[in-house]
Amino acid sequence: MLNIVIFGAPGSGKGTQSELIIKKYNLHHISTGEILRQEIDNQTEFGRLAAQYTNQGHFVPDDVIIKMFAEVLDKTQHSKGYIFDGFPRNILQATTLDNLLRERKMPIVAAFSLTVEDADVIERLTRRGKLTGRADDNIETIKHRLEVYKEHTEPLKDYYKKQGKLFIIKGDNSIENVFDEISQVIDRLLYLQ
Ligand code: ADP
Repeated sequence: MLNIVIFGAPGSGKGTQSELIIKKYNLHHISTGEILRQEIDNQTEFGRLAAQYTNQGHFVPDDVIIKMFAEVLDKTQHSKGYIFDGFPRNILQATTLDNLLRERKMPIVAAFSLTVEDADVIERLTRRGKLTGRADDNIETIKHRLEVYKEHTEPLKDYYKKQGKLFIIKGDNSIENVFDEISQVIDRLLYLQ
């Protein structure tokens, strides 16, 4: 099985690259951000709760997001593997994910960190906000998400480095070039499996 984590600053292109990876390698995509946006769009009770956090650029509390994630994982059966996008977002979530996957005997083989300069993040997301009207893509919220990313999510680099699973990919290249780099790593891992 090919189970992959992808993380990066908001706007680093995780979502775009995940879509390309799942198509090429036939993986199942679990994006916590996407699931939350669906709940918010459908105006469920859970969505209303989540929006109070996401609209301000705060994390949804760990207990809530972990419960949601575990439920989604339980509901899906996929033999080729998964790509986890937006989860884990901090060390507690990373250790939780490792435990959940250990129980299911489906370990992570690679964690991709997509790196992009702050100025590019701000430019990409303000553009996306204007195009899509996504509620958290406004300048104050973007700056806050970047700070939260640095404080809570960046430490995942060390976490996965210690496990020998970290692959740092420069995200400020064309979509095709970034995908090429990721594909090369995955192809090598598949060859070794
Ligand atoms: P981004 O493009 O900012 O990386 P995502 O689409 O992955 O965003 O997630 C959007 C928002 O959903 C986040 O800013 C956060 O509020 C919330 N969220 C998503 N995943 C998690 C998580 N694992 N833990 C806590 N909050 C989360």
